Amino acid sequence: MKLKLIISSFLIALSFLSFGQSVNYRLKMEKPQNHYFQIEMELTDFKENEVTLKLPVWAPGSYLVREFSRNVDLVKAIDENGQLLSVNKKSKNAWAISKGGAKKIIVSYEVYSFELSVRTSFLDLTHGFVSGAGVFMYVDGHQEKTGRLSVFPFKDFKKVSTALSKVNESVAADGEQTFTFKNYDELIDCPIEIGNQDIFTFKAAGVLHTVAIYGAGNYSVERLKIDMAKIVETATNVIGENPNKEYTFIIHNVVNGQGGLEHSNSCTLSVNRWTYEGEEYFGFLSLVAHEYFHLWNVKRIRPIELGPFNYDEENYTSLLWVMEGFTTYYDELLLLRAGYTDENNYLQKLQSTVNYVEGSLGARLQPVAHASFDAWIKAYRPNENSSNTTMTYYSRGQMLAALIDVMIIAKYDGKKCLDHFLQQLYNKYYKKLNRGFSEKEFKVELEELLGENLDVFFAKYVNGTATAPLAQIFAKVGIQVNEIGSPRVSFGAGLRDDGGRTTVRSIRAGSAAEMAGLSVNDELIGCNGYRVDRTSFEQFVYGLDNGESFKILVARDEVLYELSVKMTMYDFPQYQFKVLEDDTKEKLRNYWLRKIAK
Ligand SMILES: [Zn+2]
Repeated sequence: MKLKLIISSFLIALSFLSFGQSVNYRLKMEKPQNHYFQIEMELTDFKENEVTLKLPVWAPGSYLVREFSRNVDLVKAIDENGQLLSVNKKSKNAWAISKGGAKKIIVSYEVYSFELSVRTSFLDLTHGFVSGAGVFMYVDGHQEKTGRLSVFPFKDFKKVSTALSKVNESVAADGEQTFTFKNYDELIDCPIEIGNQDIFTFKAAGVLHTVAIYGAGNYSVERLKIDMAKIVETATNVIGENPNKEYTFIIHNVVNGQGGLEHSNSCTLSVNRWTYEGEEYFGFLSLVAHEYFHLWNVKRIRPIELGPFNYDEENYTSLLWVMEGFTTYYDELLLLRAGYTDENNYLQKLQSTVNYVEGSLGARLQPVAHASFDAWIKAYRPNENSSNTTMTYYSRGQMLAALIDVMIIAKYDGKKCLDHFLQQLYNKYYKKLNRGFSEKEFKVELEELLGENLDVFFAKYVNGTATAPLAQIFAKVGIQVNEIGSPRVSFGAGLRDDGGRTTVRSIRAGSAAEMAGLSVNDELIGCNGYRVDRTSFEQFVYGLDNGESFKILVARDEVLYELSVKMTMYDFPQYQFKVLEDDTKEKLRNYWLRKIAK
């Protein structure tokens, strides 16, 4: 027993081999059923008398302050002789350690991890998932230090999947696996899956891809290998270069999938376990395309504000419409290019996006640049009024990407497209300058490519809320855009079935429902003296004409109210995309739809 202990502490000492100032981590999960990861940090040769450790308040790619430190417990520090050092809290996410004469500081803490999402961490007896931003502290002012991370899996967990570089391919008797990281940013940009996940690999675009899947599902490894490789090849062709040698997909098969989170050389996807067949499978492939495309767009082609990151607070940028909107544009386009969808389907989807964007009240209230900037307080913190006031930078950004793509194609008569603009940004800002760009620089780059001043375009459609000149721009590639929307009689409240009751989910600003005084959360009980449920009420209002009146009985906070409603008209913008027949733009349209080789 003793001997074993000595050997293991010797191994631990080896794993912390350091040359000068260094920070190394150990990650343990002794009792997964309590959902706590145990973390040890070993700090060597720090000159300062006081060292400050911090935990990020947010995880890059997910623009919300999540206060990860609320999950941190039992922060302790000892010196090389095992003597306790004092730990004082400096702020909500900072701990100051008085070093005294210590040569080495060993900090230990635990992180409660019971939120399985692509951006948070989780541990139970079935597996562990580490989203580094919420688990690994950094030494303030020393984020650039390289180091090692040793993972000690729970005894029943046999595999560790992460994009971090492995020090040694062999696994120690106690399961320990050691990885290296270049700096703190890289450490937390590589999520870690620990358990008994299904692992397979495929090579595509010259890159070795590892796929680690947690959870049962109706997936076929052979089919995934072929389809994911095709997506990877198609995405790589857009930029013309894949900067990684290896790439890791971590996939969680769960009941309620929530999407994905991008990283430089990996991503995490959370999907419904039965998503791998039928129509839903194309949704899965589009998610793969989306997160994979981010390895360029946002991880390398990026706004200047998104790196180096400030982990203490919000990192504001007006360009999320480019980062998320362009990526959404490409996730659909990649599926078309790879042959998973056809031209009609693609145009239908684009038409739906445009109708969603232009049909949103928020599109006339919130410029997409503001939606980007305020993602932290609006997109990630929606409330019942959001649909009246906000515009999603994903969809409006996707629409603007389509328009800009067409503008470039028309300007270069089918010799250049949005791909070339992204290549231009990648080559200049990532490869040459190795930094992000400002909103102004982004605009200047686009102006240079298009050879025109874009002041009005940006003022109206990026920093303003005007409806884009859809018909005029899409006509350049032979797509006729018809306005087919006409005012409709409308009540203007969204209802939901709520445990046997019918309650109000949303109220459209300016609607008949709002005018009548109806509020979100009101329970709808009766209409014109009769009891109603959601279906019967919706059928009733559907048949009414403009100006018709009726009474409803609602309960609010257990008090009954009778409200008078008068139906009104709602102007409902809607567009129809049609391919022009016998037109002269076929060549450009085919190029836009990527039907001919570039
Ligand atoms: Zn995205």
